[in-house]
Amino acid sequence: MNNQKPDTETSGEPANRLAQQGVSIEAFQGLIREMYFEKDVARGIPATFMWLMEEVGELSSALRETSPEEATRVSPAELEKRRANLSAEFADVLAWLTTIANVAEIDLGKAISDKYGSGCPGCQEFICVCPDEEKP
Ligand SMILES: [Zn+2]
Repeated sequence: MNNQKPDTETSGEPANRLAQQGVSIEAFQGLIREMYFEKDVARGIPATFMWLMEEVGELSSALRETSPEEATRVSPAELEKRRANLSAEFADVLAWLTTIANVAEIDLGKAISDKYGSGCPGCQEFICVCPDEEKP
């Protein structure tokens, strides 16, 4: 819990702006910009990219800790805890990627739409038919 703003609903619960607005890339990028832009610009892209890579490493660990092999070796409660951590690591990776897009002045919604909105960039199909040896 790191909500320090008096941004609460009448219930006293912290307002979840993304839940209220609908979770979209545009809303998320705007929220990240509002929360962190000044700090992100001061830190700069190289240092911010290092944070992204650290978070990618943490996502890798979280994926390993929740693999089917690991799942058979831990208690259901432990697995649930690990799944919650995995979920948070996905959010962190997306947040740091979004931060870099803000500093680099990239509109992520437009970037995604331009690249993937008309289908697979390789084969232009909505269900990819690229040969397996190709990346997608
Ligand atoms: Zn394809």
